[in-house]
Amino acid sequence: MTKIWQDTTRRGALQTLGAGAAFAATSAAGLGSALAAAPPVGKQAPGVYRQKVGDIEVTSVTDGGRSFPLADNFVRNAPRADVNSALQAAYMPADRMTIVFNPMVLNTGGKLVVIDTGNGPDPKGEVGHFIPNMTAGGIDPKSIDMVVISHFHGDHINGVRLADGSLAFPNAEIKVPAAEWAFWMSDENMAKAPDAMKGAFNNVRRVFKDLGDRLTRYEMDKEVAAGVTPFATHGHTPGHTSFAVQSGSGRFLIQSDITNHPALFVRNPGWHAIFDMNPTEAEATRRKFYDRAVADKTPVAGFHYPFPSVGHVEKAGDGYRLVPIAWSPAL
Ligand SMILES: [Zn+2]
Repeated sequence: MTKIWQDTTRRGALQTLGAGAAFAATSAAGLGSALAAAPPVGKQAPGVYRQKVGDIEVTSVTDGGRSFPLADNFVRNAPRADVNSALQAAYMPADRMTIVFNPMVLNTGGKLVVIDTGNGPDPKGEVGHFIPNMTAGGIDPKSIDMVVISHFHGDHINGVRLADGSLAFPNAEIKVPAAEWAFWMSDENMAKAPDAMKGAFNNVRRVFKDLGDRLTRYEMDKEVAAGVTPFATHGHTPGHTSFAVQSGSGRFLIQSDITNHPALFVRNPGWHAIFDMNPTEAEATRRKFYDRAVADKTPVAGFHYPFPSVGHVEKAGDGYRLVPIAWSPAL
């Protein structure tokens, strides 16, 4: 350890570090061999993060993440070199993208509410960790009263069902945005959709089939649960919905998919992600949403923000930047 510092740091820095480096070397000699005998755990621990918004307890839960080679059209309207620069500025690799998924559980006092369900069962084990992580965090899926869906992409709805097709939250009612339902359940829209999108229409039918009156459609600007009000943020999908959470003096915005990765799309709100179904509308929505969050200084939760998926958004140049919340040891 000491040798590396001597090779790579300037003399002045070394003098300051001298005492610490000597201590580290001594500690390593004394303890290193014993610690190295323990096998590495090799995987992440369950990600569960809790905070209070007034009287509402808000829990972010990781569903996992997917990593893949970054395609040139991931951002449809920016040169690859600019995308690479933005990734480098965030200390992320230029050739790969990792997208994470963070559903939330809200305890409103009267109801336990899940907002979006994650990817559901995954044979590869990259995602589908919402249920085990929630359980590790002290929340029993059977105790969930209500599942509220923001939009019908698979990473938000597939966790409604377990691998055998049964319901992941067996005692919960399921609430979906009426506008989203109208778009995806239209056989006419499905017939005229490009072949690449037909699977998404079929998936919506699979997830929401045979739910009877367990499933209801909600309208915008009317509470779905005490203190939780959906509002229209269309563009990413035709009925895409965000949520304002309010309790006492506490305020909180759940953006859903206003952006994908913040290092790209919070920083550059004019960039169009491949997943935005109406990119122009999505961009206008994004700017309006973040201008409101900046003006109100309201914390924002992003389904695809790095865990624990909450921060403040500030104006920065032509775009914005996300300042992640500081971890708090107490509620
Ligand atoms: Zn998503």
